[in-house]
Amino acid sequence: MTRPVVRAAGHALAILIGLAAGAAVAGGAQPPGDARWIAVDVGHTLEAAGATSARGRTEFAFNLELAGQVVDALRERGFRAELINAQGRIESLRARPQAAAGAAFFLSIHHDSVGAHELRPWRFDAELLDYNDEFAGHSLFVSRANPDTARSVLCARVMGARLQRLGFVPTHKNGRRRAYADREHAVHYFDGLAVLRHAQMPAVLFEAGIIKNRAEELLLRDAASQARMADGIAGALAACLRHGRPADDEAGADRPDPPPPAQ
Ligand SMILES: [Zn+2]
Repeated sequence: MTRPVVRAAGHALAILIGLAAGAAVAGGAQPPGDARWIAVDVGHTLEAAGATSARGRTEFAFNLELAGQVVDALRERGFRAELINAQGRIESLRARPQAAAGAAFFLSIHHDSVGAHELRPWRFDAELLDYNDEFAGHSLFVSRANPDTARSVLCARVMGARLQRLGFVPTHKNGRRRAYADREHAVHYFDGLAVLRHAQMPAVLFEAGIIKNRAEELLLRDAASQARMADGIAGALAACLRHGRPADDEAGADRPDPPPPAQ
């Protein structure tokens, strides 16, 4: 009986993408917490700033810019959106979702890199750096150790779908190591991610793109492109949180696997 479920999920997703694009709305189940409050976490810290871009800029700097744009776009839609770790001083991955206690949703903003063996050396501004132009695109992560995996998956799928509608292309490089919750929209399970696991509300980690890619890095630094991406994310979260109802296969992620049929 998997086919009808998949079709139903696809149908629900199509409706939500329509909602994200600004279509008329109908009622839906609300997640717990303050339904208007979304916490937007700036990944990494000033001290441990994550990956370094092809041109030598820290991932934290990329995360801070995009997270700020996402907060602005959410506020335009009537949400109470707040940055977590805007000063870059919260080291603890447990403290971040704690700072968001009571929020309806937790979104952690990151930018992606590649493995050390995939890097090539180059010089930029007389500095010896490294790059990889082979991979590009965004991806999304959810944890099955989060108490609301179903809505986490649903919101990640809607975000991925909305971004692709806007012309953003996903990467499947993380499919080499991380199982898919939704292949088409590059949503992966990463159960051990502390920031998602410790969140008491649905939570998604978003990798906006690959800053080791020399062309994508420039796009990810471009304010207009950031605003477009942020608008897609905000529209998707508005649709998912206000009107979304997880489909059977999404809700199933919160339940243990059924026992194997008796022989
Ligand atoms: Zn990161």
